[in-house]
Amino acid sequence: MEHAELLAIEKRHLWHPFTPMSDWCEDSHQPLLLAEGSGCILRDSEGREYLDGNASIWTNVHGHAHPVINAAIAAQLQRVAHTSFLGFTHAPAIELADALVGLLPGSALSRVFYSDNGSTAIECAARMAMQYWPQNGRPERDTLLSFDRGYHGDTLGAASLGGLPVFKGAGNSFGYRVVCVPTMEALNSLPAETMARIAAVVIEPLVQGAAGIRTWPRGMLKQLETWCRMHDIFLILDEVMTGFGRTGRMFACEHEGVVPDFIALAKGLSGGYLPLAATLTTERVFQGFLGEGQAFYYGHSFTANQLGCAAALASLRVFRDEKVLEQLPGKIGTLARLLDALRDHPHVMDIRQCGLVAGIEICQSRLPLVEYGPALRMGHQVCLTARKHGLLTRPVVNTLVLMPPLCVTEEELVRMVNAVRLTLDEITAV
Ligand code: PMP
Repeated sequence: MEHAELLAIEKRHLWHPFTPMSDWCEDSHQPLLLAEGSGCILRDSEGREYLDGNASIWTNVHGHAHPVINAAIAAQLQRVAHTSFLGFTHAPAIELADALVGLLPGSALSRVFYSDNGSTAIECAARMAMQYWPQNGRPERDTLLSFDRGYHGDTLGAASLGGLPVFKGAGNSFGYRVVCVPTMEALNSLPAETMARIAAVVIEPLVQGAAGIRTWPRGMLKQLETWCRMHDIFLILDEVMTGFGRTGRMFACEHEGVVPDFIALAKGLSGGYLPLAATLTTERVFQGFLGEGQAFYYGHSFTANQLGCAAALASLRVFRDEKVLEQLPGKIGTLARLLDALRDHPHVMDIRQCGLVAGIEICQSRLPLVEYGPALRMGHQVCLTARKHGLLTRPVVNTLVLMPPLCVTEEELVRMVNAVRLTLDEITAV
């Protein structure tokens, strides 16, 4: 189909996530039709090139069209694309589980349950925790604890854990019974009757992504782990965004030597190539499901999809063979220096960075501080303008997110931050 015909059908029949479709469908809006990619570069249908500034919604790890991952998917495709994991098993899932268990600190998370996206990875952990306690003598433990501004996905169960009202939509009371707290300190003053009912705590370790790249105070994760151990409450780490190198280590929990009871992995698990997720948990939790007639009543058709597992195994090989983690400190340092030089910009209110994850919060003016009202959708406008400067990314309200694939070069980082500066300068000029 021709470009114009595709766009006409797009506007007639498509509906996009988190997108005000009235703006999208306006005649003046030309949707960007992405056609191909290699490394950190994406090309549109007319051959224009852009830097993939948010790793294709925080998924891509080693760049697009990586030959090792492409070849692994193609080779698996020759064997079989998908078979059921209900009642059967297969080599890619087994080999990947073995590799994942070995990657995680202390190999304490020794049981792997597959699903297909970040929301389901979190739901698995939540439902395992909620099923575990009644099965193991603690029926009163029927509540999950999460943090204000946390985000754990959009299916009803995952969204019920979130602390950002925008993701809950009209119905705020669906899903699990959840208590939301703002800080670690607030945990210590929970009433005894609430404490008695908590089955698990869920957190995005080190940094809350969808809240606008908000970093937790250093040491907070360790304190939370200690608190969970003291009260024998499960700790669920949502490493859907932070996993697979984003924070500078393979997993964010490694920065504070924390070993959770559950870890949810998705996005970068398959290198960002295919929808695949895994929830890892301990032998203790697994044992809690071995009673007569017991099972974990949960599963999806595409659980442990072979192509996804093959891509994930290839991605782990790339981590090893290309020494990806070893190269991160240099890139993270470069990004920090480049962002530092942006701090004085009159439209920059704050810059937050955790590894190769950065949030640049913009404002109308810094001195005196005047923030952009959400109705202006300024973050969105800025990201549209950034395209002219060869950068693709997506904001969280007024925070521009830079989260490139880990394969980003220092020169590409310079171009990314430069594109942000040029775009911000343009607002000043208006
Ligand atoms: N948890 C976190 C921390 C996330 O950032 C996201 C997605 N942005 C999710 C869960 C949900 O993942 P998915 O979109 O694959 O369902």
